Amino acid sequence: MGSHLTEKLVNEGHDVICLDNFYTGSKSNVEHLLNRPNFEIMRHDVTFPLYVEVDQIYNLACPASPIHYQKDPVQTTKTSVHGAINMLGLAKRTGSRILQASTSEVYGDPEVHPQEESYWGRVNPIGIRSCYDEGKRCAETLFFDYWRQNEIEIKVLRIFNTYGPRMHPNDGRVVSNFIVQALNNDDITVYGDGSQTRSFCYVDDLIDGMVKFMNTPSEVTGPMNLGNPTEFTIIELAKMIIEMTNSRSKLVLKPLPSDDPRQRKPNIEFAKQTIKWSPNTDINLGLEKTIAYFKALPR
Ligand code: UDP
Ligand code: UDP
Repeated sequence: MGSHLTEKLVNEGHDVICLDNFYTGSKSNVEHLLNRPNFEIMRHDVTFPLYVEVDQIYNLACPASPIHYQKDPVQTTKTSVHGAINMLGLAKRTGSRILQASTSEVYGDPEVHPQEESYWGRVNPIGIRSCYDEGKRCAETLFFDYWRQNEIEIKVLRIFNTYGPRMHPNDGRVVSNFIVQALNNDDITVYGDGSQTRSFCYVDDLIDGMVKFMNTPSEVTGPMNLGNPTEFTIIELAKMIIEMTNSRSKLVLKPLPSDDPRQRKPNIEFAKQTIKWSPNTDINLGLEKTIAYFKALPR
């Protein structure tokens, strides 16, 4: 997501400093921007302080795929919490506005469907997803406390499942896993019985909404949901990808990881009203572009 955001901002003529510790990010995703005079890349981990001069901060730092954020869960919480403190400190010192990439995971395994921003969520504080969910929830708390205490301009964005080109082939999330498996004619790994649902947003739509939200009047803080409200079961997604890739892959059922949310679908009325945004990339077109990306990667 970061590389798509960076590309959009660079193309709009902004001076962009792109920070990454390259834990899950890849330099090749921004390689094409390296010769642009308004682009700079810096290896940095947000858990450490950072002194630069900026006027807008997009904080997208944190691995977002369960397999990656569960590999070093303590570091995941630190990234969200210490990272938020450092970036909020930077925003406070420079007087810049700051957007937090929060997540639909703050709703946990929800009993309210679809999820609207006023819902407080149902999150297990001690499970294997907690390092991510509670880290992101605490980051939201910090954003609102810095806003109340220090009058910082904040934008808290709750991002629902997003997919598209430049995902890592081993990212571990469902869209990339299924596409890579289908292209290799390998088994498609469906966790549980595949009846759980997700709603998938194409990355360009998401980034468009993110930048619009950043540039709203200062009284608009969010939280704001962004995502595509078209909901699919995981089995439906698997079948769609097999068909689109003409794959010989078979579905195999694997154990459902603990605390895996049963259902997820954003209510996006707030975004519709506030930034006049709704996603306009149909899942077939989005998957087609993503499949083309993975096909072109060396295998
Ligand atoms: N910070 C930073 N860059 C800055 C200003 C602050 O990385 O330009 C970090 C610094 O490590 C600090 C944290 O952000 O501890 C929080 O800053 P804040 O001003 O809220 O707190 P304080 O400096 O009083 O601890
Ligand atoms: N999933 C799956 N097979 C996979 C990867 C994921 O069935 O190879 C399921 C997973 O259990 C979850 C859904 O797909 O119910 C979305 O998983 P993902 O990791 O993409 O995102 P998140 O669970 O964070 O929404």
